[in-house]
Amino acid sequence: MTLARTLYDLQQIDLDIQKKQDTLDDIKRQLGESDSLVQARAALQAEKKHLIETEKQQRDLEYEVEDLRNSIKQLNNKLYGGKEKNPKELVSLEKELSIFKTKLNQKEDDLLDLMAEIETTQDKIKTNGQKLEKIEGEWQQEQKDLGQKQAEVKRRLSELNRQRTVVSSDVAGQTLELYEVIRARKGQAVAKIEQGRCQGCRLNLAVNELQRARAGDLIQCSSCGRILCLG
Ligand SMILES: [Zn+2]
Repeated sequence: MTLARTLYDLQQIDLDIQKKQDTLDDIKRQLGESDSLVQARAALQAEKKHLIETEKQQRDLEYEVEDLRNSIKQLNNKLYGGKEKNPKELVSLEKELSIFKTKLNQKEDDLLDLMAEIETTQDKIKTNGQKLEKIEGEWQQEQKDLGQKQAEVKRRLSELNRQRTVVSSDVAGQTLELYEVIRARKGQAVAKIEQGRCQGCRLNLAVNELQRARAGDLIQCSSCGRILCLG
């Protein structure tokens, strides 16, 4: 095998390594909690918090309603108990009673609204809880698959690195250095010759370049500098 061919093989391994590395980077980005999972969990937490708050409001309102009912009972007793005979005082008691009744009506309406809201929130918590469970289940499966894929790609990558060591051990240090320099500059250091052209830059090669390549010499394209390898 010519040196150019060995370098071409090395390039194939390097391209494969790069591809696997990109896949690993991609997997790494996908590992961890997804946006939809984080959002679903946050939404559920917000609803649970809202439920605790509204339940507290409900209790407070129930106490207020209870107080108002007691006050109304006491006023009714005063007004109709027969002890109070002063007409002015009776009128004033009636006014007070009417104010308390209006207040009670308002608070009872508020309480009904609040209870409806609590019921809606409880429904939402139930629905979103089920949704979260589904998302979590799918996410866990996805993470498991990604973990398996990651392990497989890592295994393949170390295999490729072993191959690279074997192939590059046949190449002199100086030549490897040349390969790396061109690779860093051009992306790919080795170009095939097809129909008398360098496949790196697509330009026609000089006759003597072709002859030397055919003879097995390590030559670079005079136009793009890539190492030439017979197709
Ligand atoms: Zn070229």
